Parts: sequence; structure tokens; C-alpha cells
Amino acid sequence: MIVVGGGVLGLSTALELVRRGVGDVHVIERSHPGEGSSGRSVGMVETQYFRADDIEARVYGRRYYDSVSAEHGLQFSACGYLRLGSSRTDLETFEKSVDVQRGFGVTDAYVLSADEIAGRWPQLVTDDRVGGLFGASDGHIDGYEFCTIAARLITSGGGRVSVNNELLGATLGSDGRWSLDTTRGRFEADVVVNAAGAWAARVGDLLGAPAPLHPQLHGAVTMDLRNPVEPLLPFVMDYVPDSGTDGVYFRSERAGQLIAGLHTDEGVHEPVSPDVKLRRVGDDEIERVLTLMAERLHVVDDLSVSGSWQGIYPMSPDHRPVVGRHPDQPTVVCALGTGGSGIQLAPAVGLVAAEAVLEARPTFAWSRTWAPDRLTADTPPRPIS
Ligand SMILES: Cc1cc2nc3c(=O)[nH]c(=O)nc-3n(C[C@H](O)[C@H](O)[C@H](O)COP(=O)(O)OP(=O)(O)OC[C@H]3O[C@@H](n4cnc5c(N)ncnc54)[C@H](O)[C@@H]3O)c2cc1C
Repeated sequence: MIVVGGGVLGLSTALELVRRGVGDVHVIERSHPGEGSSGRSVGMVETQYFRADDIEARVYGRRYYDSVSAEHGLQFSACGYLRLGSSRTDLETFEKSVDVQRGFGVTDAYVLSADEIAGRWPQLVTDDRVGGLFGASDGHIDGYEFCTIAARLITSGGGRVSVNNELLGATLGSDGRWSLDTTRGRFEADVVVNAAGAWAARVGDLLGAPAPLHPQLHGAVTMDLRNPVEPLLPFVMDYVPDSGTDGVYFRSERAGQLIAGLHTDEGVHEPVSPDVKLRRVGDDEIERVLTLMAERLHVVDDLSVSGSWQGIYPMSPDHRPVVGRHPDQPTVVCALGTGGSGIQLAPAVGLVAAEAVLEARPTFAWSRTWAPDRLTADTPPRPIS
């Protein structure tokens, strides 16, 4: 069993397989665990979504990271997550989300009015917002740290993680076994998991198992505050899923620093090559982040940009994860396409992918909706609603 890609999705899948007693799990990683998008995220793990399947997958992720935190020392910073709403319809949707979350055992998500938000975090501008959906114990992890811990657990559980090992070619023998050519030699496998992040389309082509992707370039910016402000801000997301646009997010890193960026779960950014040179965030994007933050924060005049970085959202054409056996090559299992939610979705993706490998009974009733057979190589991106 070979997993191509040592990001959060590949490592979660491999770890799930090792925990289920699969003895020959081998992750091949072109660079080092976490060197792809997983080490470039801002690491939010939260459940403030609307569809029951989106919520259940994230509740599973939240609990998974809690246990990695308790048992293996992964740092989880429970800063809280506040999704702002601007219409009565948003608030109704938020109320429904709270009910669905309760059904999955989340008891500390609730809807706050604009006045309650302003009372708790006076730095926030709330006049043009009607309220927000707040997850009190949501928080963030360091994706790179999780990858390091997961790689260690895979190895100590009897699996293998080989670094600086790139998949270059693949042949399916008449005996149904894969022969994979890599920079570190030839390896055999009965099943191959494609967890190559933004490069998954390329790996899919090598395996004759097309995986259409529309990778998006995203950045994150750190901003220092001249006058440190308290209380610390939770992760504030001024974007509502399926709104047809992107929105700004920010959170306190400490009293004197914020981390901010632009987020969307939709196809509103132009696709890029996975090999795009990652740099600091460009001036235009920083300008847009600052403009949107100025609408949301009283303290924006105090801000100065102190750093930034870019990474890739590995976005599928319909903006949903692609997980399961490939219709053209059933011995290829996809674990890809999580866009800007891959950290929080990785535990659920790892579970669904491992179940696909083992042809085990699915834990989630809806896991079939993530299956790759809904997409073909030329599936166009979903139009913006
Ligand atoms: C700025 C930013 C902020 C984000 N914030 C969040 C957030 O707050 N919460 C959240 O949930 N998500 C967030 N994300 C999204 C998240 O980072 C991704 O969805 C997730 O990391 C994808 O994981 P992956 O394992 O699919 O990909 P990757 O981490 O990219 O892993 C794929 C790996 O495959 C390897 N690989 C590629 N080709 C080959 C090959 N031929 N052979 C061997 N190995 C190969 C690569 O080297 C790479 O390490 C953010 C992303 C960015 C860029």
C-alpha cells in the first residue's frame, strides 16, 4: 500500500490504515511531511458550517485533533471562531447550524447578536452586521506540527514514511499490482492512494486515474499593532459559504499581532499551476485585506504589515473533497481536493479513504458523496452562484 503525498490528507490516511492493522503502509513524499499546503495554512479547525455532512466531518476532525493533542502533545489553541452574518437569512441559517451541531454533540456553538459581539470584542465594527455564529472552543493547530507527529506515529506503528522521494511513473501489471518508479527506486503496491495535494492532477495522470483540480493561490498576512488590544480577537470570518465571493478573516496571534487573509470555499480565484512560485503576498492583495479589515475593525489605523506567505488551496471543480476508489482505476484511492479546509477535514478524509482502501463499511452515511466518480477529467469548475 503506497500513499503518494505526506501532507495532512496522506498522513491521516496512512495513520488510519496503520491503526487498523495494515502492515505495509508506505508514504512517499517528494519533499518532507508538511512541506506542501499543510505547512502553509493558518490551521483553523472549526465546525461553523451549515450542511449536516460538512458539520459532521468537521466535528469528527475537531475531536480527532483533541485526542492527538491529549495523547501526543499537538498544540491546539482554542481561540474561538466567529462567522459574521449580514442578513436575517444568515441568522436563520446560523440557528439551524447550531441545532445540527447539537445533534452531533457540539454544545458550545451559539448565535450572537451584533450588540453581543460588540460587547465582547469592542474592536469589531458590527453596525452593518446582524450577528454571528460563534464556536467557543474552536481553534487552530499548526499543520506542520501535526504532519510531524503523524509521520512519527505511522513509523512507530510499523509503517514507513520516505522523504525526498518523488513519484515519477507508474505501471499496472497484469497481476493487478502497481510498480511505482520514484526518485528512490521502484516500489510495488496493491493499492495506491493519491494524496498529492495541489499536484494530485499530475499524479492522477501518472496513474491513469484523472483527478481534475483547480488549485488557488492564497496568502496570509501578519500585522503588528502599535497599541496592543485586549480582549484577544477570536478567528473572525467575514465570509458566508456559497455567497459567491470571498471575504476577509483575521484573528489575534497575541495582543500585539493579528493574522489575516482572504478566504473562499468557491471558485472565485483564478486557477494556478501547482508549481507556481510561492512568494510574499502581493501589494494588491494586501491592500484588499486592509480595505476589508478597515470595514470590520476600529483599530486598523494602528496596523502595520510585518510578514506574509503564500500557499495553495487544492480545490476540486465542485469545491468538495474527492475521496474514494477511482472509477477508471479501482486500485487507486483519491484523498484530495479539500481547498481551504484541508486541515479541519483531514481526519474525516483519512477515515473515508482508509475505509475505501479496505472496502470497509463506511462510518459516515454520506461518504459516497465524496466519491471521485462524480467528476471527469474535463469537469468544468462550478459556476459562481
Ligand atoms: C494560506 C492558507 C491558509 C489555510 N488555512 C486553512 C485553515 O485555516 N484551515 C484548514 O482546514 N485549511 C486551511 N488551508 C488549506 C489546507 O492547508 C489544505 O487544504 C491542506 O493542507 C491540503 O493538504 P494535502 O495533504 O491535500 O496537500 P499538501 O499538504 O500539499 O500535501 C501534498 C504533498 O504531496 C507531495 N507530492 C506532490 N507530488 C508528489 C509526487 N509526485 N511524489 C511524492 N510526493 C508528492 C507534496 O510534496 C506535498 O507535501 C489553508 C491553506 C492556505 C494556503
